[in-house]
Amino acid sequence: MSADHRTQSGRSSMKVVPTVSEMRLCSEAEKKAGKTIGLVPTMGKLHEGHLSLIRKAKEECDTIVVSLFVNPIQFSPNEDFRNYPRDFDKDKALAEKSGVDFLFCPVQDELYPSGFQTRIDLPGLADKLCGKSRPIHFSGVATVVMKLFQIVCPTKSYFGEKDYQQLLVIKRLVKDLDVNTEVTGCPIVRDSHGVALSSRNAYLTPQEKVSARSLNASLSLAQSLMDSGERNISVIKKKMRETICGKPHTHIEYISICDPETLEELDRIEDKALAALAVRLGKARLIDNRLLST
Ligand code: AMP
Repeated sequence: MSADHRTQSGRSSMKVVPTVSEMRLCSEAEKKAGKTIGLVPTMGKLHEGHLSLIRKAKEECDTIVVSLFVNPIQFSPNEDFRNYPRDFDKDKALAEKSGVDFLFCPVQDELYPSGFQTRIDLPGLADKLCGKSRPIHFSGVATVVMKLFQIVCPTKSYFGEKDYQQLLVIKRLVKDLDVNTEVTGCPIVRDSHGVALSSRNAYLTPQEKVSARSLNASLSLAQSLMDSGERNISVIKKKMRETICGKPHTHIEYISICDPETLEELDRIEDKALAALAVRLGKARLIDNRLLST
């Protein structure tokens, strides 16, 4: 099965892999053939943010596996699992055009057959920031990503810094459970107005899209305030809050200035700090963040 999906002309055609057993065989064959494997886990509805991860993986690895799976166990019952944007045909076309070798797209029963009950918990990191309003979220993420690691055995794996807390959770998981993969964080891709790309941006009305610019604007303001010598966290947060609240339809869930490693809230900024936020805008819950430097 190794690389037999590649034509003799060297052009590659992507293989769509729906089952765990087949994905395992494909990965084993690639490894046996001496190939390094780069894994990019996604929930689909691919955009430039996802494609930037794929490009990074292609720079560094021989074989690229993209997983496409809307993971039910990371959504609470009141969240948008059922309505989460899905477009398999477009995702497949985009992945193929981007030079992906294997598109792993299992159905729900394939990853969670009847009787499945294991969960991975990271009580320190997963309870902070988004974990406060999404109590099962990171356990669901850690569990599915661990399964992907077990199935694909990637040499390297790629995650976006847009989901900064998720990236920390995955790095911790890899360290704690001795997973043999190198985790790479990739920079946030934004549109021309500074809005971080997200599959959930599809929920936004045109007016909400304009309001969404205030998230990055408030993060940039935080850095500007730091640049002008401001170190009072309450003052910085207040000004960030005003930037967002000034726009219609915005409901701030949290604004945090915290330690970039532990996500503990900071009282004062001495060195590096992470500004992170979650804002509800109509049907969308958007997150964004920026590392602040002194
Ligand atoms: P998702 O499909 O939303 O679960 O995202 C899959 C991966 O793409 C995650 O590692 C995300 O952090 C990453 N990602 C999503 N949006 C962006 C973005 N705007 N810039 C960089 N990475 C992103």
